[in-house]
Amino acid sequence: MNERERSERASRAGRIAAGLTADGVRGVAVTWVDNAGLTRVKAVPTAMLGRAAAWGVGASPAFDVFVVDDSMTASRLVGGPGGDLRLLPDLDRLVGLAAQPGWAWAPADRVTQDDEAYPACQRGFAARMVEAARARGLTFRMAFEVEWFVGPDRAGGGEPDARPPDDDTVPACRGPAYGMTRLVELSDYAAHILSALGQQDVAVEQFHPEYAPGQFEVSVAAADPVSAADDAVLVRQTIQAVSRRHGLRASFAPVVVAGQVGNGGHLHLSAWDGPRNLFAGGSGPYGLTGRGESMLAGLLDALPALSAVGSPSVASYLRLLPSRWAGAYACWGRENREAALRFITGTIGSESSAANAELKSFDLSANPYLVVGAVIAVGLAGVDARRQLPPEVTGDPARKPAAELDSLGVRRLPQSLPEAISHLEGSDDLRAAMGDALFESFLAVRRAEVGLFADRTPEEIAAATRWRF
Ligand code: GLU
Ligand code: MG
Repeated sequence: MNERERSERASRAGRIAAGLTADGVRGVAVTWVDNAGLTRVKAVPTAMLGRAAAWGVGASPAFDVFVVDDSMTASRLVGGPGGDLRLLPDLDRLVGLAAQPGWAWAPADRVTQDDEAYPACQRGFAARMVEAARARGLTFRMAFEVEWFVGPDRAGGGEPDARPPDDDTVPACRGPAYGMTRLVELSDYAAHILSALGQQDVAVEQFHPEYAPGQFEVSVAAADPVSAADDAVLVRQTIQAVSRRHGLRASFAPVVVAGQVGNGGHLHLSAWDGPRNLFAGGSGPYGLTGRGESMLAGLLDALPALSAVGSPSVASYLRLLPSRWAGAYACWGRENREAALRFITGTIGSESSAANAELKSFDLSANPYLVVGAVIAVGLAGVDARRQLPPEVTGDPARKPAAELDSLGVRRLPQSLPEAISHLEGSDDLRAAMGDALFESFLAVRRAEVGLFADRTPEEIAAATRWRF
């Protein structure tokens, strides 16, 4: 940032701060998401926003080796007590928080004290991949689906309840899967979530009770990839805040109860050449264009390595099981909810705007910035290599005989974090795209989490991660 840019940012932030102060906003939460998938924050008083926008807010690079339980690991290029970084709030995304009166929020880009892009910044990685796509004339539209479990917030008092106080897996509503009863039981809560997201300019497209006990889902409109990742952060912190205000608690963990259907964090994506959706109007399967097909083939091929990014926690593998619509098989199919790559053509007549792909195997323990960046990286690699899709899979692969799966070339995705890690370690595309500092620190955190949960039972793993995400 040169001196002119710095002073422009300071004065723009000053104007924003004056408006926020007039609206009663006292502090701005500046967040980033670490390699454990946890959103971390440094906040500044609203009056300090100008300085924060010009000079950034200090934060240690050690956060990049924080593990899910807040212990620290180490990596070759990142970690240790030394050094400092600056968090630069993105003023374009700054918004007042509807369910946290007195607060505004902005996602951070991280730069070094020498004013250079910090190579291990996850949001910076996502932006670099958007740029790499743009250099090929391509843009992406993406959206994360957010699923969560609602339980009573016993620590905060919560609603009076006859259930055992030590069981935090009892849902706050009793209605059936997708049941209107749940929406009646938690009517004010659900309406509050919609109004808070609306006030924050998050374009909600759908809200519904999900399959697992006490589970709900919000889906939002597609946006550019960095905004989609920002939305995933904002939607979750809004749901957390609304939950607290209703004496409730939200869990976005991959599984809340081991053995039950978990929380997904599916990613929808489409790729565009100017106004043209590469997933529609072509001569490939279901109207895919050549580049659209190659992109999906690149994604499919890289799914085992992507699992370490999109299903990154030990608990992820308690969720990623067949016949739960979690996408446990590395295959694709039109509207197939058991395929990790579900292709969606849209209703007849809407294909050119609606066609998209859904990566179902991902969950919300993933860092959304790493997810969008990694997906773009392997998608572009697929285009460059002119890959072609294998045959599609219809129906539940888990119900097909092994010989049929073999003949289709369909395999399960990794069934444990160590398995996913070994695929990521072997991905030259992802190492090159992420750069050594990010790639190695991310892997170090993954390995530390394997160590953390070694010899722990599924129930212990679920309990240890239930309220971390
Ligand atoms: N809860 C399921 C999961 O873990 C997803 C259900 C759905 O298809 O939306 O991914
Ligand atoms: Mg769902």
